[in-house]
Amino acid sequence: MLPRFELSQPQTLPEALKALAGGVGQPLAGGTNLFPDLRGGREKGDTFISLSQVGELRYIEHTDNRVTLGSGATISDILRDPQMKIAAPALVAASDIFAGAMVRNAATIGGNVCCGSPSADSVPPLLTLGADVTLASASGERTLPLDEFYLDYKKTVMKPDELLASISWTPPTPGSAHLFYKLSRRKGDAITITGISVLVEAEGGKCKTVRIALGSVAPTIFRAHEAEGMLAGRVLTSELIEEAAQSAAGQCKPISDNRASAEYRLLTAHSLTRRLLRQAWKQAS
Ligand SMILES: Cc1cc2nc3c(=O)[nH]c(=O)nc-3n(C[C@H](O)[C@H](O)[C@H](O)COP(=O)(O)OP(=O)(O)OC[C@H]3O[C@@H](n4cnc5c(N)ncnc54)[C@H](O)[C@@H]3O)c2cc1C
Repeated sequence: MLPRFELSQPQTLPEALKALAGGVGQPLAGGTNLFPDLRGGREKGDTFISLSQVGELRYIEHTDNRVTLGSGATISDILRDPQMKIAAPALVAASDIFAGAMVRNAATIGGNVCCGSPSADSVPPLLTLGADVTLASASGERTLPLDEFYLDYKKTVMKPDELLASISWTPPTPGSAHLFYKLSRRKGDAITITGISVLVEAEGGKCKTVRIALGSVAPTIFRAHEAEGMLAGRVLTSELIEEAAQSAAGQCKPISDNRASAEYRLLTAHSLTRRLLRQAWKQAS
């Protein structure tokens, strides 16, 4: 059963920020993480500030060279946006196999990013896009790379009076490969065992830009910067890709749980990184 809690329902962003400034109360978006966690006793909060009526947070904007997702955009909104397949192919791939339709209609991108779960499926694709997050509070805004947002398991740099306002990125250049693979027990409605995203941009037969992000294999989702450094500016041979995949796997700190053992997660982090890098290089070059 759901425990009793206080709920405020601001209608505008300034009202929501004012409510948060009080220091008591946690944002509630679609509730698809929060409600199961409250029911299961994993979440202890008793005062929530609903963002569901704050229309300013629910939008998708494409400008000349930038895409911005308001934190209240839902996973279904992403799937319905005709330009998103070009602006963020791997994010669309992740959204396509995200939960079932009912959850996708309520689940927001902001909730997925802010819950801090190592298995949040939108995060590896956003990391490989090099996305920035904009945090807002009653005293102003700050923007930082998503890559600097996570501190530890379910811990982020957000202060209690801040909320995630938006996420933005520059779309991949035409011809780039932006891929996502979710390993899970079923194709739909299953928590990720290992989630990998890769972006490769090629120029003049060499790898110009490469980003690699791994999910569910460490306390936080992370970029494999060392592996990226091994590939950037080079021709991606099988040997080089294998070395980079080994390096990425070396950064993993997986746990064993009821979905998979730590050993399995490590093996699949290695093999899936190798597989996605090969696919991405073939596609981009
Ligand atoms: C049946 C089921 C299937 C699921 N399948 C998947 C799946 O396939 N992949 C996946 O990644 N997840 C999955 N989830 C988890 C969940 O749906 C997602 O993480 C979802 O995106 C959470 O968004 P929400 O809007 O519901 O967040 P909420 O539950 O409302 O909030 C989650 C957390 O984020 C905080 N928060 C929310 N919005 C903001 C904001 N703007 N600023 C600051 N903090 C904020 C809240 O305070 C809370 O701590 C599933 C959940 C269920 C119940």
